[in-house]
Amino acid sequence: MKILKFGGTSVGSASRIKDVAKLILDGENKIVVLSAMSGTTNSLVEIANYLYKKNHDGANEVINKLEQKYIQHIEELYSTQEYKTKGLEVISEHFNYIKSFTKDIFTIFEEKTILAQGELISTSMMNLYLQEQGINSCLLPALEFMRIDKNNEPDTAYIKENLQKTLEANQGYDIYITQGYICRNAFGEIDNLQRGGSDYTASLIGAAILADEIQIWTDIDGMHNNDPRFVEGTTPVSDLSFDEAAELAYFGAKILHPTCVLPAKVNNIPVRLLNTMDPKAHGTLISSRQCEKRIAAIAAKDNITAIKIKSGRMLLAYGFLRKVFEIFESYKTPIDMITTSEVGVSVTIDNNRHIDDIVDDLKKYGTVEVDKDQVIICVVGDLIASSKGYATKIFSSLKEVPIRMISYGGSSHNISILINADDKVAALRALSAGLF
Ligand code: ADP
Ligand code: ASP
Ligand code: MG
Repeated sequence: MKILKFGGTSVGSASRIKDVAKLILDGENKIVVLSAMSGTTNSLVEIANYLYKKNHDGANEVINKLEQKYIQHIEELYSTQEYKTKGLEVISEHFNYIKSFTKDIFTIFEEKTILAQGELISTSMMNLYLQEQGINSCLLPALEFMRIDKNNEPDTAYIKENLQKTLEANQGYDIYITQGYICRNAFGEIDNLQRGGSDYTASLIGAAILADEIQIWTDIDGMHNNDPRFVEGTTPVSDLSFDEAAELAYFGAKILHPTCVLPAKVNNIPVRLLNTMDPKAHGTLISSRQCEKRIAAIAAKDNITAIKIKSGRMLLAYGFLRKVFEIFESYKTPIDMITTSEVGVSVTIDNNRHIDDIVDDLKKYGTVEVDKDQVIICVVGDLIASSKGYATKIFSSLKEVPIRMISYGGSSHNISILINADDKVAALRALSAGLF
């Protein structure tokens, strides 16, 4: 069985939903994972922010605007009165539920429940549309099988067992529709897999049922060789290895959720990135195959903070790095890049929640400098086998850009370069011009 995930833009209007329906009706059984319609999760975040601030008028304004949009979508999506009525019932049920949160206390629990409504609505709309077309489809409630543990990691054993149960209880359908992004946590409360997490849902489901293939359908024809939001003339990369795709996703290629490659890699399930607007395009095939001797793509990760610890004493005496790492570990803050010299060590983090405590603790070991508003530029490809000449090309492309840190050799397919956020777009463009 294949898993097909369609993102927000792919289900962003009534006509897009109809296009997706056509795409999935090829006679094969499949599980279809849907995001919320584009813009919906952002609106739900906005509503939650108003409710945290007890601004009920602000929240109601966004809620009513969003509800009106959905009423319009329902009108355009269904052709029979019977299904228009069913669709409107779904909308009013979910919006009445959202409105019920404007009266009481508002905590993170209520926030997560509100954030889940987008995917619950889009999947109900699609399922009803398929049924109106006479298709034998079934809604699989993600909240019955998708779960994260106490460390916010997917509980893969639970997911596997409960997805099997849900599928067994619903045999005989041609198409199964389920919600991306949403899940329950270790306490059984509604939670989510972080923004963009529908990709992760698709790969977790793929891994749980050992799918033949996981397809991520979006609004672009695969992983491009640079970020198309900032660089003109980027082109799709036809093949990527799991490791290359994981690096690109982790280092900012928004087309894939950072963690979604791992479940596919572990189970050796190919992942295809495809374009809903151009379904015949080849897109990108992510598999265990490594293409040799080429730079595949460039990505940029924003909101990075660099921390430098300088020590007059023997900084790199053994045990020193352990003490430094332990400080980050005790604040559950992962390190992305690291460089060392005899007098100092620099690291980067992308999570500033505990930065003040971390800096305080690090001061035990030397002087500490913090640089915020940094960006990691990540060049990904087969860089060991083909490293001859590539480093020169990369750095000569960046000759006008001040470089704060360089990390190379940690893996055979990644060179990471830390620069100021202000230089990001220029650096991405210079690299495209120099490398492709
Ligand atoms: P979806 O809503 O389908 O999940 P996303 O917006 O999350 O879609 O991801 C698709 C977007 O990712 C593209 O529209 C594109 O702007 C952006 N993007 C960033 N980097 C890349 C890249 N290297 N290749 C392709 N798309 C990229
Ligand atoms: N709807 C969620 C978001 O906008 C999840 C997703 O689209 O992947 O982040
Ligand atoms: Mg996405």
